[in-house]
Amino acid sequence: MTEIAFVGLGNMGRPMARNLVKAGHSVTGFDTMPDNLKGAAGDGVKPAASTAAAVAGAELVVTMLPAGRHVREVYGGEGGILGAATPGALLVDSSTIDVETARTVAGSATVAGFQMLDAPVSGGVTGADAGGLTFMVGGDAAAYRRAEPVLSCMGKTIVHAGAAGAGQAAKICNNMVLGISMIAASEAFALADRLGLDRQKLFDISSQSSGQCWALTSYCPVPGPVPSSPANRDYQPGFTAAMMLKDLKLAQEAAHTVGAATPLGAEAAALYALFCNGGEADRDFSGIFKMISGQ
Ligand code: NAD
Repeated sequence: MTEIAFVGLGNMGRPMARNLVKAGHSVTGFDTMPDNLKGAAGDGVKPAASTAAAVAGAELVVTMLPAGRHVREVYGGEGGILGAATPGALLVDSSTIDVETARTVAGSATVAGFQMLDAPVSGGVTGADAGGLTFMVGGDAAAYRRAEPVLSCMGKTIVHAGAAGAGQAAKICNNMVLGISMIAASEAFALADRLGLDRQKLFDISSQSSGQCWALTSYCPVPGPVPSSPANRDYQPGFTAAMMLKDLKLAQEAAHTVGAATPLGAEAAALYALFCNGGEADRDFSGIFKMISGQ
């Protein structure tokens, strides 16, 4: 059993913390939203009154926060983890944030004497519930080996991607592929509709041909071919368009920083911005089919 602190008990953090409790760890949690903290307490997480109180005595700290600015504040701000954690604690940030912030905060952690990993996830709320997340981990190999048994209580696939920031880099590269391929699949179905080609026939052919991709075969953007895809429930998320836009923007920021040309990534970000600004931010990201097809 490990003494674990969990900060950020929202849609993802709460089921992740629950799985740590189920695995027999002692978990103390904090969230600025009282309802979220109360919900987690119902799952067996010991509620703390602040981040500092949650991390006092913890051997391992996990954070699952909305964005980079929250991570900077929760680690480096007043009463933050770097000032309050127990010496020797291992720090793991699973939020999806920009690579630069991940590297800066990890650097500050090192200066403060802590090992820190960036460990963003994929798999969404369903994966978090089922303990089936994929963790992409950046940081020191020894720290990774230390974290791995705890991460495996929340995820099925755990990959050490490289040095600090590599987990975030992997996450945004992966999600850039996903955003682009969802638009590609949507364009193909919209074109098929105009050409009078049956959607199921396109699916049957492309899912077995070179057009095959996860966006098509696991998360098909039109209703019918894949019963579990959000298209069959009016694009209730799943993974919201707002989240996809966030990740595509992070990919664009990172691309600008290093001078990488990502024209399709840029176009995908522009299209998801248009979709979100049209009032669809809370829809599943596969709902972009509706915009692409002119519905
Ligand atoms: P969420 O908004 O539901 O949860 C974030 C939680 O952090 C909230 O409960 C919020 O109150 C809390 N919080 C914010 N500031 C805080 C502070 N200073 N101290 C303590 N708690 C604070 O978001 P989520 O869906 O759980 O996503 C969390 C992270 O995981 C994001 O970075 C997101 O991009 C990433 N992610 C989400 C999904 C998904 O499907 N939801 C999938 C993969 C990755």
